Amino acid sequence: MGVWPEGKRCAVFLSFDYDAESAEVWRFPKGVIEQSKGQFAPRVAIPRILDLLDRLEVKVTFFVPGWTAETYPETVQEILSRGHEVGAHGYLHKKLNEVSAEEEEEIFERMMTALTDVMGEKPLGFRAPYWLYSERTIDHLKRYGFFYTSDFMNDDMPYMLRYKGEETGLVELPVEWFLDDWVLFETHRKTCSEVYETWLGEFEGIHELGRYLCLTFHPQTIGRISRLRMLERLIREMKRRGDVWFPRGVDLARWWKERKA
Ligand SMILES: [Zn+2]
Repeated sequence: MGVWPEGKRCAVFLSFDYDAESAEVWRFPKGVIEQSKGQFAPRVAIPRILDLLDRLEVKVTFFVPGWTAETYPETVQEILSRGHEVGAHGYLHKKLNEVSAEEEEEIFERMMTALTDVMGEKPLGFRAPYWLYSERTIDHLKRYGFFYTSDFMNDDMPYMLRYKGEETGLVELPVEWFLDDWVLFETHRKTCSEVYETWLGEFEGIHELGRYLCLTFHPQTIGRISRLRMLERLIREMKRRGDVWFPRGVDLARWWKERKA
């Protein structure tokens, strides 16, 4: 018997980092064109992605910076109303390893206030902007009662996160840069077929070994129509196997923790 529920053979965690233009507002405060790229997310990509996910009947997690939730609250509420999870993703997408202790505290505070206001409840999942932590980040996560994180790159199975030799109580849902659309499409300018091959190849291995795969998407990147069609093709290919579990982050983390308890 495998490790996954209901006789499933492997788990695929589809995660969207709904940054919108938060990072560009921080990095290029006057850069209207730089910022416009991120605006493609609320204007075009989010509705398009939500419709695709409905058609495919999969529920996913969107990690949202506090600034994005404050700026585009109706899109975050739409994400929730379609049955997806919203997790936390910093405030203005700053690098936590570069800010002062005071600023990191303020980031966590503003992030929690913004998300809780829009969501009506506290987020349970956290993903750090740029997948970067300071030595204080895990203490903040524990203090705010987070249940899981999705930032580390040392496994292809979920696990209970230990830090400095101690149990944190957090479930970790690991990630990797080559399973991130930004790196492949924006940094390396790969084509849709190259990305399809890369991700399908990893999926096939994970499926065979009965393990876990996390793909990370940015709406302004994956939401371009040719890429979204590629993603649809990929998810349909995964679903065709009939034995793949597509949990939201919180469902996967809960299931993992109960199993380990
Ligand atoms: Zn991000």
